[in-house]
Amino acid sequence: MIKFLDLQKINAQYADALKQAAAEVIDSGWYLLGERVKRFEKHLAEYIGIRHAIGVGNGLDALRLILKAYIELGVMQEGDEVIVPANTYIATILAITDNRLKPVLVEPDINTYNLDISLVEQHITERTRAIMVVHLYGQVCWSSELKRIAKKYRLKIIEDNAQAIGAEWEGRKTGALGDAAGFSFYPGKNLGALGDAGAVTTNNDQLAEVVRALANYGSRQKYVNEYRGLNSRLDEMQAAFLDVKLRFLDAENQRRREVAAYYCEHITNPDIILPIRNFTLSAVEGQQSAIRNLKSHVWHLFVIRHPKRNALQKYLTENGIQTLIHYPIPPHKQLAYKDWDEIIMPLTSQIHWQAVSLPISPIFTFEEIHKVVGFLNSFSS
Ligand SMILES: *Cc1c(COP(=O)(O)O)cnc(C)c1O
Repeated sequence: MIKFLDLQKINAQYADALKQAAAEVIDSGWYLLGERVKRFEKHLAEYIGIRHAIGVGNGLDALRLILKAYIELGVMQEGDEVIVPANTYIATILAITDNRLKPVLVEPDINTYNLDISLVEQHITERTRAIMVVHLYGQVCWSSELKRIAKKYRLKIIEDNAQAIGAEWEGRKTGALGDAAGFSFYPGKNLGALGDAGAVTTNNDQLAEVVRALANYGSRQKYVNEYRGLNSRLDEMQAAFLDVKLRFLDAENQRRREVAAYYCEHITNPDIILPIRNFTLSAVEGQQSAIRNLKSHVWHLFVIRHPKRNALQKYLTENGIQTLIHYPIPPHKQLAYKDWDEIIMPLTSQIHWQAVSLPISPIFTFEEIHKVVGFLNSFSS
């Protein structure tokens, strides 16, 4: 069977280094708030090209903590609005509602699946304080228009960078584009820990300090609590693992790009809608643009659409190819948000019933990709 994502095989590549790292942490006798977290934070900040990286417990907490810090700093208050794409993973929305802020759902662009920036301005009210962009499936969601809007209305731009670590926009990495960003190192993400882990990045010294305190019971100094914080820390073990894997991230992302390019070139079934890269839409020319174009996506997921998605998925399963759906139910249709049942989001709904994610991973063999493409092309509905 071709697995959707074979984590055992991915991590087996680094087994020796990971075991060595684990042994060092065990022997050190120091498991939280130590040297390994500091070292990983430094390496992550250098990699992203930003002043501060703060290790936290997971990706959801990274986003929660950013918003909580803005509330502590008086930038936002309860009931303020945050603009967010309607088709994101539910964690983005949970981070907002958990802080008693109001998510304002905006439809995605059906071509890129990212927030439709041209719809943002009409959703801005007096209570809007931030735009939460999600680099969904690994593709940058950014434009000069977005920056212009944020500046005009004095909004913070917060990046949900859970899926796009390593992606770039005009030579700058996601996670360094907006005012603050949340990262997830959930095992299945492009940079995956061996358990839960996350990080916040920002160039804002004050914000970084408050996030760090909030993640540690609201305390900067032991037993002195300035804020009503959480306990959401990156631990030494995960930091040590992540430090090993960060070194291979660019190579892994490059391999994902190669798999994606092969899929795009060889899937010829006319009923299949392939993913569209945002920069290919604006007829770019020349070497510079081509490079930029390449780096705007790190292919966390390779999502296609098909009018008979369920039948296609069944056919692939029967032929030993595991696929997943990202995501079967949009946030506004979840029981957790039953008050929003009246909201109508046609494009979001369309994506949720047509999309299916193909296996994509840095260790995918040519034979495996070839087999997947063969079945996709032979499927007739
Ligand atoms: C994975 C993910 C999160 C949450 O990260 P966790 O580490 O699982 O808490 C948030 N947003 C998006 C878009 C994600 O894909």
